[in-house]
Amino acid sequence: MKRCEHCGEWFAPRYPKLKLCFSCFRKRERALAEYDSLLWELRLLRDENARLRTKAGAVPADMIGKLIRLCHPDKHGGSAMANDVTRWLLEQRN
Ligand SMILES: [Zn+2]
Repeated sequence: MKRCEHCGEWFAPRYPKLKLCFSCFRKRERALAEYDSLLWELRLLRDENARLRTKAGAVPADMIGKLIRLCHPDKHGGSAMANDVTRWLLEQRN
């Protein structure tokens, strides 16, 4: 018998090198798998973010001015979407 390094429970190790009980071992495996998939997701989001930034950066300043005039909230009954887009366009201009 051995004491689990994580929870302190006694357990019968299948291999002499095992330091975690079966329950903690499985929890750790699951956490590692989740960590891997989160890292993967983060990498995808970073790529997507970089792609979008490049695209936004490629819009010429005069075009941003035209876009702001086009989607100005005054022309769209003050809609929330027009507000959001105008705010975002103004940020891109700075
Ligand atoms: Zn344990």
